Amino acid sequence: MAKPALPDYNFQQATLDFLSKGPKQLFINNEWVAAQSGQTFETRNPATGEVLAEVSLAGEADVDAAVAAAAAAFPGWRDTIAAERGALLFKLADLIDQHADALAELETLDNGKPIRVARRGDLPYVTKHLRYQAGWADKIEGSTVPVTFPNQFVYTRREPLGVVGAIIPWNFPLLMAIWKLGPALAAGNTIILKPAEQTPLTALYLADLIVEAGFPPGVVNILTGPGLPTGAAMAAHHGIAKLAFTGSTAVGAKIMEAAATSNLKPVSLELGGKSPNVIFADADLNAAVRGAQWAVFSTAGQECVAGTRLFVERAVYDQVLDGLKQNVEKMVVDHGFAEKVHVGPLITDEQLSRVMSYIDEGKQGGAEIITGGERLGNGHANGNFLTPAVFSYEDDSLKMVQEEIFGPVAAVTAFDDWDELIERANATMYGLAAGVWTKDVARAHHYAHAIQAGTVWINGYGMIDPAAPFGGYKMSGFGREMGKEAINLYTQVKTVWVNTSD
Ligand code: NAP
Ligand code: MG
Repeated sequence: MAKPALPDYNFQQATLDFLSKGPKQLFINNEWVAAQSGQTFETRNPATGEVLAEVSLAGEADVDAAVAAAAAAFPGWRDTIAAERGALLFKLADLIDQHADALAELETLDNGKPIRVARRGDLPYVTKHLRYQAGWADKIEGSTVPVTFPNQFVYTRREPLGVVGAIIPWNFPLLMAIWKLGPALAAGNTIILKPAEQTPLTALYLADLIVEAGFPPGVVNILTGPGLPTGAAMAAHHGIAKLAFTGSTAVGAKIMEAAATSNLKPVSLELGGKSPNVIFADADLNAAVRGAQWAVFSTAGQECVAGTRLFVERAVYDQVLDGLKQNVEKMVVDHGFAEKVHVGPLITDEQLSRVMSYIDEGKQGGAEIITGGERLGNGHANGNFLTPAVFSYEDDSLKMVQEEIFGPVAAVTAFDDWDELIERANATMYGLAAGVWTKDVARAHHYAHAIQAGTVWINGYGMIDPAAPFGGYKMSGFGREMGKEAINLYTQVKTVWVNTSD
């Protein structure tokens, strides 16, 4: 393949070296191997449409090979002193810090997000999460159990499951990889990671750091390829003991089905969202409008927690809508390496068309477009750029209001009273996150309790922390990542009975 065309930017030498190193192979047993499938695919820069790298496509035989490697590595890794497992994860975090600039550049090239965000957002989060989970490695404890029988000493152990399969999306490629790798490895599992086909680069870069950190062969394996066949082969594999998935609700359902009809592997699903964000008239309106703006438009709206449905108390509706319009019109849409950029491109042209179809449906269905929703031309026509769109709407049955768009589209509506608000806010199939802006402490807590969502932000939006459990209600999935809950996801409980009578 010819050298990839890169934007005009002062790239790290490590980034250039990585990109110039030929077609990317599969990472199995700490080695780079050619795919047995013989197939490859291309990953592109969403800002320009240009090919960045040719990448191996893992087929069923490749999944078999990775499972064999991970299964062979499991007993040794499980029995490694827990503190030593943690130490390797800390070492990996240090190496990621050392390579943070190159990793951020690759993330922006592959995913499109502003480089400032990749560098100051994604990368620091990656190492924070990894270090937090590394710290759990030697703190996974069982308990002693006071049973009803005499002369029985009963205790529990939290044991790893075996080979974990992890399938992740493209919106936070390295962060999603670490969310899975961190707790799975800390708990003593081995892992096969499949990054999204749109954004495989940072996971592949990570593989070299895994070797350098000193992880034994087979503990981490990275398979690139699309959902079909790679992801599906993992979900259905009898040698995979647990499947951790982040992605859409539709694919999550397929993963569950494949798990059910193969070996009943437990699954954890972090799925989509259509999160309500509420502004009451008594809120600090400047903060609320800014918060609402970033709640939906960061990462060009391609966030599972995006606060896409904004409910505003009617007394301040016009004021909030006007403030939002003014703020949003100042947002700069450009490629991720531009000097000043707030909103990068969407991930693919298919995604752009999908988002446009929701915008058309909104317009035709009677929602009023307040600003944005247009493609960029003029030097941006080959990229997937869309100006942030704000709609004012009344009809909750619009698809634009019910379905996850995963693009820069805000749907703003007025509400009059509490019961109406809670009913409407809860009336989607999703339940990932929610926000509320008010100075009334009691009301804020009532909202937090009434809303069906795994995370609620009061007078803020979008904060995620390694210590704070995260996951969905309803069709946004189940299982909680982060915090101690993440360790529970990657372990199973064994109860041991010891007869102590003579
Ligand atoms: P997606 O289409 O569901 O894909 C997610 C992953 O599943 C990708 O690696 C994909 O592979 C793979 N996949 C697709 N079909 C598969 C199948 N039949 N069997 C096994 N694996 C399969 O989602 P996406 O478009 O990449 O990401 C956007 C979605 O992720 C949104 O719904 C968003 O809300 C959700 N998300 C949720 C969270 C959360 O924590 N709750 C976080 C981020 C994103 P390929 O893409 O490589 O083909
Ligand atoms: Mg790409």
